Amino acid sequence: MSNYPAGVTGREFAIAGYDSEEESYRECGKFGYARVLTYDALREIDRIKVLLAEIAEGKKPASLAATLIVNLDYLVKHRFNGVEIEECPFAGDVTVSWYGKQGDWTCPLCSYEHHEDAPEPDEDWGRDR
Ligand SMILES: [Zn+2]
Repeated sequence: MSNYPAGVTGREFAIAGYDSEEESYRECGKFGYARVLTYDALREIDRIKVLLAEIAEGKKPASLAATLIVNLDYLVKHRFNGVEIEECPFAGDVTVSWYGKQGDWTCPLCSYEHHEDAPEPDEDWGRDR
């Protein structure tokens, strides 16, 4: 008898983790969106950099830093354009983690999490032999 509640076998992913891992060749090919800061936002970041240097040199009060942090936060959250990025060119060996027939791997270039099914065994193989 196991100590698991009814209906829980212990083979669930959250308990058992991955069945196996393998190093295997994969190609990513993921299309996606990237966030690119606007030119105006980049200029403002440059201005903030100058102000931070002046704070560090004691030419501006340290209390200004809190305002600059709020400004930076606004810039990175709201002042960008969404641009479509190229097909991710990654190709190479990655660690594929298998849980049953589900394989998971993360692209080391674009961080996309790939989920794939194990290939079905060929049902005709071995027949008439
Ligand atoms: Zn990728």
